[in-house]
Formats: sequence, structure tokens, C-alpha cells
Amino acid sequence: ALIITDECINCDVCEPECPNEAIAPGEEIYEIDPNKCTECVGHYDTPQCVEVCPVDCIPKDPDHVETEDQLMDKYTKLTS
Ligand code: SF4
Ligand code: SF4
Repeated sequence: ALIITDECINCDVCEPECPNEAIAPGEEIYEIDPNKCTECVGHYDTPQCVEVCPVDCIPKDPDHVETEDQLMDKYTKLTS
């Protein structure tokens, strides 16, 4: 999964782009639900939130490192 850092400026551009509805406004900044983020695997070739974020604040979450297979597995479960 990816994670939004505290550099987020709450612009709301990423939220509608997420195919898994994994992004939502949190108390201070936008947040990604790691259970729903497939890094866009299954939907797109590149993470759509990263593509649109104007401040580049969405890196991979070091606490939720996943392989391509695991991400595809999550995609399958989310869409079944
Ligand atoms: Fe959503 Fe894709 Fe961003 Fe994950 S990488 S939060 S699935 S848009
Ligand atoms: Fe925050 Fe980037 Fe999403 Fe804007 S696009 S709400 S700056 S994470």
C-alpha cells in the first residue's frame, strides 16, 4: 500500500481518482486505507493518486510492503 505523508495540502485531487475508494479525508490530512490500496494493481499501470498529487507526498508505505502477487490478490478479493 501507499501512504500519504504530512506534506499533504488537502487538495482533494487524489480521492476521486482512486479505483478502490481507499482515500478519504482524515483528521488533519488525507489518508489511505492500506486494506483497500492495491497500489492500483489490477486497475492501472501506475498509482493514480501519485499521478495527480501536486506535492508528491504519496510514497510506498514501509509498514505495508507487498509484492505484486499480494497486491493482485487484494484486488481480486476487493472486486469479488
Ligand atoms: Fe488508490 Fe491506487 Fe492510490 Fe492506492 S495507489 S490509494 S489504490 S489510487
Ligand atoms: Fe494530499 Fe496529494 Fe491527495 Fe492533494 S493529491 S489531498 S496533496 S495526498
